[in-house]
Amino acid sequence: MKIINPSTQEIIKELSPDHKISIQEKYELAQKGQAEWARKTLEDRIKCIKLFESYLNQNKEDLARDLTLEVGKPFQESLNEVNGARNRINFFIENSEKWLSPTEVHRDGNTKEILAFDPLGVIANISAWNYPFLVGVNVFIPALIAGNAVLYKPSEFSTLTGFNIHKGLLASGIPTDVFIPVIGGREAGEVLLDLPLDGYFFTGSYQTGKYIAQKVSHKLVPVSLELGGKDPLYVTDEIADLKQVASAVAEGCFYNNGQSCCAVERVYVHEEIYGEFMGHFLQEVKMLKVGDPMKKENNQGAVTRSVHVPFLQEQIKDAVEKGARVLCGGERTTPDSNFFYPTILTEVTHEMRIMKEESFGPIIGVMKVKNDQEAIELMNDCEYGLTASVYSKNIDRAKKVVSQVNAGTSYVNCCDRVSPYLPWAGRKHSGLGATLSYLGILSFVRPRGWHIRG
Ligand code: NAD
Repeated sequence: MKIINPSTQEIIKELSPDHKISIQEKYELAQKGQAEWARKTLEDRIKCIKLFESYLNQNKEDLARDLTLEVGKPFQESLNEVNGARNRINFFIENSEKWLSPTEVHRDGNTKEILAFDPLGVIANISAWNYPFLVGVNVFIPALIAGNAVLYKPSEFSTLTGFNIHKGLLASGIPTDVFIPVIGGREAGEVLLDLPLDGYFFTGSYQTGKYIAQKVSHKLVPVSLELGGKDPLYVTDEIADLKQVASAVAEGCFYNNGQSCCAVERVYVHEEIYGEFMGHFLQEVKMLKVGDPMKKENNQGAVTRSVHVPFLQEQIKDAVEKGARVLCGGERTTPDSNFFYPTILTEVTHEMRIMKEESFGPIIGVMKVKNDQEAIELMNDCEYGLTASVYSKNIDRAKKVVSQVNAGTSYVNCCDRVSPYLPWAGRKHSGLGATLSYLGILSFVRPRGWHIRG
């Protein structure tokens, strides 16, 4: 198994992935570790997580450097990610006790009725590479706080960060048999699906998520799926500062090279302001600098997976063949590199793949619409339902429009934003279950109703 730097295509490291026997052994270890870990008090478990948050803070520069090395995102974005993960961890530290502590909910004569929670047991955390810290902490932090053991499979494209997370958790007092990395790609993941685990928490593509849900369904254990998106954004004709909106939209489309589950993937613009908006938008996108992600002046790094570049080119080709126009970009910066110019396509339609299929790269289709109704219909014309965004100084109008879009997150005058206080819960092909918020704390426990008489 080779870890490759997507910016230089050089091999950073070669590793032996886990196999059936090693993963079985790790599972047996985790079973023993989990029983012991669950016996500790919630306070003791939270103490370790606090130390982990400090560890991330103290080591953030090194952690960010490794992340940039293996996924190709700008160093500053890697730093932002580590800090964002700390923010989410602090949410779990501050809120877990409130939601996990037993509560007397009713008293019937001399019978106390108490709602309590037990951990699930040994769970699998099968993770993605685009934000390995963020999507990781959504799962393993609340899972560990609740008393579970975690078999953590980082993506094969972010294994160094997986190792770094493991090292940090052990340094923070998490026992070696409670958080165990499983190294490898699809084959290692498949072994986890065959084990009798107590829950499956997956972040990745719809295709893999659907497969996993089907494969483990007979076990009747919790399955949580955080999947892809084709997130729409609509700019109405009531905008105070169109240049500012164009800048926010450009960031929503191209941050992390568009490799965010909640990246803006489709833009609809009211016909009254279309021309003016496009002028500002093109100017913003042309200012983005693509190149070595360790250099401060670059805000676009390399596309993480080499095989994804031809996929992006195919989406562009399909659109152009059906009548789209490439307003800027459309190609790699140099032949065979993973650096791709931020690309805008106009005159797009929903007959084109770029408006329906997740791109997960630095390419965006922009479409003119006549009115709110047309925008709502187009925004809903997609199999995904992660987020949707509407820009308007008329907040009531924006709320009215976005509330008619079937998505787990609604944005008014913002986009591509995640808060630990709110649930992250995709609809349709974007997922099942919720992470973050108090719902994401309760995702890692089973309820137990106590009836205590006397
Ligand atoms: P992927 O589906 O290719 O892989 C995800 C993980 O699943 C990896 O660890 C991989 O090794 C493992 N895997 C692959 N095949 C498997 C199998 N048959 N059995 C078990 N495990 C298997 O996805 P990816 O390329 O890593 O991530 C990109 C996708 O993730 C995009 O669609 C993106 O939108 C989505 N994503 C969603 C969220 C969210 O919060 N909704 C967050 C980040 C990424």
